[in-house]
Amino acid sequence: MANIIDGKLIAAELRGDCERRVNALKERGVAPRLDVVIVGDDPASHQYVNSRLRDCADIGLESETHALPADATEAELIELIEALGADNSVHGILLQLPLPKGMDQDRVLAHLDPDKDVDGLTVANAGALYTGRQGFAPCTPSSVMTLIRSTGVPIKGKNAVVVGRSIVVGKPAAMLLLKEHATVTICHSRTADLAAHTKNADILVAAVGVPGLITGDMIKPGAIVVDAGINRVDGKTVGDVDFASAEPVAGWISPVPGGVGPVTRKILLANTLTAAERLNGAD
Ligand code: NDP
Repeated sequence: MANIIDGKLIAAELRGDCERRVNALKERGVAPRLDVVIVGDDPASHQYVNSRLRDCADIGLESETHALPADATEAELIELIEALGADNSVHGILLQLPLPKGMDQDRVLAHLDPDKDVDGLTVANAGALYTGRQGFAPCTPSSVMTLIRSTGVPIKGKNAVVVGRSIVVGKPAAMLLLKEHATVTICHSRTADLAAHTKNADILVAAVGVPGLITGDMIKPGAIVVDAGINRVDGKTVGDVDFASAEPVAGWISPVPGGVGPVTRKILLANTLTAAERLNGAD
């Protein structure tokens, strides 16, 4: 029977830390603030943004939404992003993706100030992660690392396997594990014999988007299994790991829901506070 990695509990601890940091900044006369930019009227995107705004309000972090209409031009969006970058009262900028058709995501992101890119989406922050410099890693892989660390099991020297190689989850998760001296393998849709790799993993991270892809027979007994997948199946949210067969084999396992997701939300807040602290000379 695996130990359950309780994302809700870890998120509650992070929330307390964040609240203390907000108060410390306010005592120094700094009102930390996250600005959210959303283009168009996709209901799921607006729902996501609203939940982030509630998270900010919950800890006293100021937030402002900039909603552009679906027919806004790329030039208007870039102008807004640059204005927020230049505004000293703004510490974090969250650009809700995907952008509407016709807008070039990479071109827009090139105008986002990396010091305020608290979601770690810019090339500058990807480069910082790759080269070991100071920056912001994307929130989901940072959450994955927080869950792994919460087990207390040393990462150094372990075989870590990341299934998925996206820019927002898989690749940065692999870089973060490498930074902590794991021996890292990245698997993807063209990997031959996925199970041969996963069975060798002391730490297994699933970031795929295929419900139940990782089954118990693909897991090394005692492994740490962290599931970043979010899939809707028959009206329920499930991960990429088949929890029922994986849980008796793994040593530690994060559930879906209640694992990576709640911690990811708090890491966005923590990154915004780090940005506010750095921009105000208290790193
Ligand atoms: P992408 O679709 O961008 O990437 C999926 C990756 O999985 C790709 O690298 C793909 O390989 C690989 N893959 C697909 N099928 C297989 C397979 N059968 N075997 C092995 N690898 C496979 O997804 P994301 O990285 O954006 O998201 C991954 C999951 O994480 C999703 O469920 C998403 O909802 C969730 N997510 C969760 C977040 C959270 O906070 N918990 C935030 C963001 C995402 P290839 O590169 O070859 O195509």
